[in-house]
Amino acid sequence: MNTKEAFTKLSDITKKKCETCVVPEKDKQYRCCDRMFCEMVRDNFPDDVSYPWKDSHKVPFMGDSGCVVSPEHRPLCSAFVCNSQLKDRKFRREYERLCEKAKISSVSGSLKRFLEAASKGI
Ligand code: SF4
Ligand code: SF4
Repeated sequence: MNTKEAFTKLSDITKKKCETCVVPEKDKQYRCCDRMFCEMVRDNFPDDVSYPWKDSHKVPFMGDSGCVVSPEHRPLCSAFVCNSQLKDRKFRREYERLCEKAKISSVSGSLKRFLEAASKGI
């Protein structure tokens, strides 16, 4: 499994968890998505990568059916899940395995800052 595939799988399993707590708020799909995190993701794109940015939207990378950014280009979000979900031991084992495959520890320090910022809101 390469890094891109690992991020896709990470995004799939964390998304499934997050689908259990959809917030019925206009312009917002999941509780933890936030303009601040879209900005952090955008600031870490490689030079040749871009995605449609809806500035008038509360969460600018949120499209009609979820985030428009590929999982490997939003590692911060693909890997994020709250501590309460990590109590599911089977999920946690798979999550940690995929984090290792995705080489999460080599993602820039912004991941750590992101996780700290996001966890304050949970
Ligand atoms: S990380 Fe936790 S609180 Fe946030 S959207 Fe996912 S399940 Fe909900
Ligand atoms: S980049 Fe995508 S997953 Fe991350 S906060 Fe923005 S809309 Fe949500």
